[in-house]
Amino acid sequence: MHASCTNRSGTCGQSGSLSTAESAPRDRLAKREPVMSTSEKMPALGYLPWTTQATLRLLSGSEDISFIDYHIRRTTVTALVHAFLPLGYYIGLALFAPELNLLAVWELTPFFQAVFSICLGLPLTVLLFALYWHYDNWSNHPIAQQLVQLSNGGSWKAVASAVNTEFRRIDKFASGTPGRRFQSATTAQYLNINVQRVERYLSDFKIRLNSLEYSDLRTKLQAQIQNARNIVVRQSLSDQFLEAFHHTVSQNPVFHPQPHVELDQCIGCMQKESNVKLQKHCEDEVQGQEGQADPAGPTCVQCFCRPMWCLECMGKWFASRQDQQRPDTWLSGKAPCPTCRAVFCMLDVCRIVPR
Ligand SMILES: [Zn+2]
Ligand SMILES: [Zn+2]
Ligand SMILES: [Zn+2]
Repeated sequence: MHASCTNRSGTCGQSGSLSTAESAPRDRLAKREPVMSTSEKMPALGYLPWTTQATLRLLSGSEDISFIDYHIRRTTVTALVHAFLPLGYYIGLALFAPELNLLAVWELTPFFQAVFSICLGLPLTVLLFALYWHYDNWSNHPIAQQLVQLSNGGSWKAVASAVNTEFRRIDKFASGTPGRRFQSATTAQYLNINVQRVERYLSDFKIRLNSLEYSDLRTKLQAQIQNARNIVVRQSLSDQFLEAFHHTVSQNPVFHPQPHVELDQCIGCMQKESNVKLQKHCEDEVQGQEGQADPAGPTCVQCFCRPMWCLECMGKWFASRQDQQRPDTWLSGKAPCPTCRAVFCMLDVCRIVPR
């Protein structure tokens, strides 16, 4: 992994359902693009109450704008706050139990003298560390030191800015954000992905991931994930549907464009060339005979749009227009063309095959 991977998700999945189908493939993952996790999933140096987090935000600037800088400051302030806790406790005890006479340091018993030295020494030590980290524009901080390893002899600042840019991207991979995903089953499958690093001196680490987010993660990685134990990764509902969608469309008649027509990029993902065209091939009456007449019941009509979508985007669009509570009806469902609203069904989606 060349850029920093900051994703060390702890618990994924927000519904509290525990994994019954626990599996742990020892997967190898060598990757280039950084993968981000939401800050909630970052392992903090400690666990601070919400108010402290809010204070930290004030002290540290915005995570969204400057991810690395934010976490360098955050870890430093967290370490400092924790280091001052024993001293605070000592002073509190001295104030609330004056009979112990803890503030008269020179009259203390050897035991309390030792306690006092520790309470005073700890924050001073951490303070010295913090100053050392801060010296030379934070380049001594452990995070900066890790980034140096990833910089291929360059500056850690360049890696940091690449990570910051990646974190600002709207399509970054985020795991376990509440409300982002729904779980259709009561059980979840969790995958342990072992990330082995290309760089020497940097230790491997593990990502624990809900299997429903696995395909999402894979699209962000440039390298393959090796499924060492050949574990069957449970797909999310939309992945399963996309597979069925692909399968159906592959059996439909194909569409041959005019020779001079140039295909544009898909306007959904802007990554693939448009490769599907909506051509009415179904017979609407056939649907009604299966007993389950579509209550909405719009009839398919011919769409005259030029090809503007790829198969994946069309499948996602189709799924998004279905009744989300009744996935069993999706395959027989209908959707409006994303551009002209002409109704189509899965039988009307044709792959484009140049002559
Ligand atoms: Zn697309
Ligand atoms: Zn259309
Ligand atoms: Zn149709």
